[in-house]
Amino acid sequence: MSSSWEVVIGLEVHAQLATRSKIFSGASTAYGAEPNTQACLVDLGYPGVLPVLNEEVVRMATKFGLAVNATIARRSVFARKNYFYPDLPKGYQISQYELPIVEHGELFIIDADGNDKRIGITRAHLEEDAGKSIHEGLAKSSGIDLNRAGTPLLEIVSEPDLRSAKEAVAYMRKIHALVRYLGISDGNMQEGSFRCDANVSVRPRGQEELGTRSELKNLNSFRFVEKAINFEIERQIELIEDGGEVVQETRLYDSDKDETRSMRSKEEANDYRYFPDPDLLPVEIDAAFVDAVRETLPELPDAKQQRFIKEYGLRVDDADILTNSRALADYFEAVVAATQGKTQGVANFVIGDLLGALNRDGFDIEQSPVTASDLAGLLDRIKDNTISGKIAKEVFDAMWAGEGTADDIIEARGLRQITDSSAIESVIDQVIAANPGQVAEYKAGKDKLIGFFVGQVMKETGGKANPGQVNKILKEKLS
Ligand code: ADP
Ligand code: MG
Repeated sequence: MSSSWEVVIGLEVHAQLATRSKIFSGASTAYGAEPNTQACLVDLGYPGVLPVLNEEVVRMATKFGLAVNATIARRSVFARKNYFYPDLPKGYQISQYELPIVEHGELFIIDADGNDKRIGITRAHLEEDAGKSIHEGLAKSSGIDLNRAGTPLLEIVSEPDLRSAKEAVAYMRKIHALVRYLGISDGNMQEGSFRCDANVSVRPRGQEELGTRSELKNLNSFRFVEKAINFEIERQIELIEDGGEVVQETRLYDSDKDETRSMRSKEEANDYRYFPDPDLLPVEIDAAFVDAVRETLPELPDAKQQRFIKEYGLRVDDADILTNSRALADYFEAVVAATQGKTQGVANFVIGDLLGALNRDGFDIEQSPVTASDLAGLLDRIKDNTISGKIAKEVFDAMWAGEGTADDIIEARGLRQITDSSAIESVIDQVIAANPGQVAEYKAGKDKLIGFFVGQVMKETGGKANPGQVNKILKEKLS
């Protein structure tokens, strides 16, 4: 059914900028304070007070613009977007409309065929966040918390270039990694610092004109983005195939029911009566400012990934995972620098064991109980044959549990690998003597029984025999 339809998606990503104070006031942006303790007169929308632009947000938006190869507007303008809502005491949100600070950017995702695909970034503009309505714990009323009012946001608007929920997620992940690399947003999705609206439409394959879209509001996890979009695609296709029409509207995703619901018909820009905010001067940026910001750009994720492939000989997928966050990439490079072990071995261990343990326990790499130098110490013991790769996993778990360094644990638990060939030989002799049937089958040509013999030897030695030697000696004895 879906194959005769083409999906079209454009995302509006909102990244909260990691400034200490708000975009137009000196109030703190710290998360989690008691309601209404971090809203000053400007955030409360008192008459007669004036907003003052926080220069840091201009620097951060510029940094983002440079990182996505965009044009940085020499002159951008703040506008009032007028609407009424209880969490917006001024009656308007200060945003940028006709003249945003960043335009015509791009970034690249990997599509389903494994090719680079360019996604256009129409614009990125600065705006203030609104407050929050609170319903939980209140019987017959709603509360308003204005701590978030005036928190700086960068709204990043893509071209309708995305063709599936998977591409939308890949794009959003890229933006997420990028803002964190740049240090302009903490990207914390649970706290709402990073969220997106997804615009979704379908059209008959081959048709030029875009279909009517719906806008899915406030998606705050990658999983929800994927599920909400997929639900919406199916809903629209079914609707049209049943003879109906998609209406332009705003919809909410209900993650409990895994469905989207109509919230309101889509407002047009002219409903908002945008006009330039007379309280704020246009933002003027000169070349020197842009150059100074360019100097502060770190190595970006794509460049780092390419370097990891070239410098360390990593596979594309591994390099992709390891450069997902700057902290993880730094960790990996610190291990590589400190160990004698092979680089691919480091990558395997970091991706398989370390990331696995971090995910399991819900830690960020910064909170890893095993430091890069501790992990290097463990990998050195594989390299010098003190332990096998398999035993290393047991040692790693013990390190994770806080039992000490790799060397401490190997000694305390007696995990040193048996490399003495006469000791290995005698175990092999026992195994051969105990399994005459398998020996006969092996000799009759059933080669894959070698795995059985290796397994028996490992069992007898508690996994401590050197696997290379076991294989070699077994083959000699059995031939
Ligand atoms: P608005 O002003 O209503 O927010 P925009 O024209 O600025 O609308 O577009 C918002 C987002 O919607 C952009 O990311 C854009 O790519 C996307 N978009 C626009 N039209 C469509 C469509 N027909 N189908 C899917 N996405 C669309
Ligand atoms: Mg919009």
